[in-house]
Amino acid sequence: MDITPSSTRYEHMQYRRCGRSGLKLPAFSLGLWHNFGLVNDFGNSRKLITTAFDNGITHFDLANNYGPPPGSAEENFGKILNLDLKAHRDEIIISTKAGYTMWDGPYGDWGAKKYLVSSLDQSLKRMGLPYVDIFYHHRPDPDTPLEETMTTLDLIVRQGKALYVGLSNYRPAEAAKAIAILKQLGTPCLIHQPKYSMFERWVEGGLMDLLEQEGVGCIPFSPLAQGLLTDKYLHGIPKDSRVATSGQFLNETHITPEKIDKIARLDNLAKQRGQKLAHMALAWLLRDDRVTSVLIGSSKPSQIIDSLGALKNTVFSDDELGIINDILG
Ligand code: NDP
Repeated sequence: MDITPSSTRYEHMQYRRCGRSGLKLPAFSLGLWHNFGLVNDFGNSRKLITTAFDNGITHFDLANNYGPPPGSAEENFGKILNLDLKAHRDEIIISTKAGYTMWDGPYGDWGAKKYLVSSLDQSLKRMGLPYVDIFYHHRPDPDTPLEETMTTLDLIVRQGKALYVGLSNYRPAEAAKAIAILKQLGTPCLIHQPKYSMFERWVEGGLMDLLEQEGVGCIPFSPLAQGLLTDKYLHGIPKDSRVATSGQFLNETHITPEKIDKIARLDNLAKQRGQKLAHMALAWLLRDDRVTSVLIGSSKPSQIIDSLGALKNTVFSDDELGIINDILG
């Protein structure tokens, strides 16, 4: 049975235009990389989705390999959509990706036409959908001609299996080539999904300028550096944190004394701004209007509500930006 979402869900969220396309995305989108696998509590996953939607988050980001096991996040998302939000499909932007290892043998990875077409067909089946809104190539493939990968993205749109296409993890030079091929094919690149946070600033070395010039949107992933850019690790490792519960992509080795020192200094600055560190880290990304949406993850519904508080202050003085640059070194 469909839930009845809050009637005020569109009142407090900002919607930002994605590059020079017709599509607007919420300032925050929810990613399903963690907390949506078969290993997770389905009731909690369900509450995360409905809490997000109730608060104006209209975009949910998946990939073929999210879980664990791979594929299970798409399966669970399909179930939740069917249980709670079926009547609201046209209010929702769903993305998925292919590019990392998904099945055995030579056709289950990277960027060939054989893999991308089969993978999207599998994703659609797992989610119970006829099409996704955005299909991404998840990472560049050094061995497949870029023309083949981009022609496949174009094909997928022409087949009606995706409305738009995007790139993820492409560096500026390869992104420029891919964007040019897609433009020539008549399926413009909608969006780029890079890793971008206070701790990961490679996009500032050319990618953001390229996206602006080409009218391509940007949706940074891991904006809290998987939770490091909060106050949670300042005094040890909480039992319910990603480091303690998952440990695969974020573990104790990432929490060095140097990192804690930076986090503590950023936390002080956030307090001076009247914000929590998580809010300042998210606001710091949203201050740049070339950032279309910030792609958050959440292990608890309360974190989604909390993170939305970042929208209250996304303005930074030059002094504050200077202090942040000094801290980040
Ligand atoms: P974040 O950097 O936002 O980290 C999310 C984690 O931080 C949460 O699971 C939670 O961890 C903690 N957290 C979130 N909000 C708060 C809060 N308000 N206060 C305290 N702690 C908080 O993003 P993710 O690393 O999860 O990535 C987000 C999405 O980006 C993914 O789901 C995926 O869609 C996408 N992504 C894309 C990739 C790509 O290659 N294209 C790669 C990686 C991610 P906890 O409570 O467990 O400590």
